[in-house]
Amino acid sequence: MTIYNFSAGPAVLPHEVLVQARDEMLDWHGSGMSVMEMSHRGKEFMGIAAAAEKDLRELMNIPANYKVLFLQGGASQQFAMIPMNLLRGKTSADYLNTGEWSKKAISEAKKFGKVNVVASSEDKNFSYVPDFAAWKCDPNAAYLHITPNETIGGVEFDWLPNAGNVPLVADLSSTILSRPIDVSKFGLIYAGAQKNIGPAGLTIVIVREDLIGQVVAGTPTMLDYKTHADNDSMYNTPPTYGIYIAGLVFQMLKRNGGVAAMEKTNIAKARLLYDAIDASKGFYNCPVALANRSRMNVPFTLKDANLDGEFVKQADARGLLQLKGHRSVGGMRASIYNAMPLAGVQALVSFMAEFAKNNS
Ligand SMILES: *Cc1c(COP(=O)(O)O)cnc(C)c1O
Repeated sequence: MTIYNFSAGPAVLPHEVLVQARDEMLDWHGSGMSVMEMSHRGKEFMGIAAAAEKDLRELMNIPANYKVLFLQGGASQQFAMIPMNLLRGKTSADYLNTGEWSKKAISEAKKFGKVNVVASSEDKNFSYVPDFAAWKCDPNAAYLHITPNETIGGVEFDWLPNAGNVPLVADLSSTILSRPIDVSKFGLIYAGAQKNIGPAGLTIVIVREDLIGQVVAGTPTMLDYKTHADNDSMYNTPPTYGIYIAGLVFQMLKRNGGVAAMEKTNIAKARLLYDAIDASKGFYNCPVALANRSRMNVPFTLKDANLDGEFVKQADARGLLQLKGHRSVGGMRASIYNAMPLAGVQALVSFMAEFAKNNS
C-alpha cells in the first residue's frame, strides 16, 4: 500500500531524497564515513554546507547583501532572537496577528519591548487576513512581523504590506520554497526546516546584513545573529545531518524546475482538494476565507463532527495518514507541502468522496 503522510510537521520528505540519503548513509561519496560522523570543520562537511547555501541562494534568488544562517532552536527561538537583534535601540515593533503562530511571536516579543498589533483577525477566529488598508502601522517601528502562512489555521496571503523603511520580517516556516518570493522586500525571513525543507532541528534565517550586530545588552552569544554570520554558521556545531538533508532537497528542487515548478504543482494540488471540499454540498467545510486559503495546510471540518473519528480511522486504513486537525481547531487538516505528490491528493479526494457518499 502506498502511504501518504499529511502531517503538518515534521512532514513528508521527497522520496528521491530519502533514497539518496539511504544510499549514502554508511559511506558518503567514498569518504568511509556517514555524514553524521563527520567533523563540521572537515573538508567534506564544509563542502556539503557551502553547496546547500549556494543552492538555496540560487533557488530563492537571495541578494548578496543577505546572510543565510543555518541555526537550531526552531522558529520558536526566532520569536525571541528577532526582537533581541532587530529592536536596535528602538522601543516598539509592529506585529500582524493572524493566528496561533503570530500570537506566540507576539507574546515572546513583549518580553523585549512594546508590541503594536497592527491588525488582528481574532474577531473571526483567525479565518482571514485583515486588509492592509486597516493596518495601523507605526512608521517608527523597529520592524513589522508577519506570518504569511498560518500552519494551524490554514490562512495564507501572498501580497506584501508596504512597510516603507520599516524592515519586514516574515515567518515562512510552512511556505518557504512553495512559491517564488522577492527576498529583497524583506529585512529577515525565517523558517523551521521540518515543514517544507528537511528534518527537524535545522532553522534557516535569511537576514539583511545591515540589520546584524546591534543586539540588546545581555544577549547570549548564541542568540546574536552576528555570531553565526561571522562564522558561516559554524561558531559551534551546527545541525550537520539536517543541513545535509536540506541540501539534498535543494538539489532535488533544482533538478525539478525550482520554486516556480513547485508553485505550479502546489496550485494544482490545492485546487483539487478545495474543489473536493466545495463540491461536497456541505459535507466538508473549510472555515478559511476564500482569498486566504492556504496552499500548504488545508483545514476542513465534517458537517457531523461525530464522524471525525471514523474518517481518520478509515483514512488511516487506506494509507492516508496524519489527517487529524490541530487540537485548537478540530476537524481535519491535510498538509500538502512540496514533497506531497499530486497522487497523494488524488487519493485523498477520492477517499473523501467515497466517505461522504457512504455517510450522507
Ligand atoms: C511550526 C511552526 C513554528 C514553530 O516551529 P518550531 O520549529 O517547532 O519552533 C512557527 N511558526 C510557524 C508558521 C510554524 O509553522
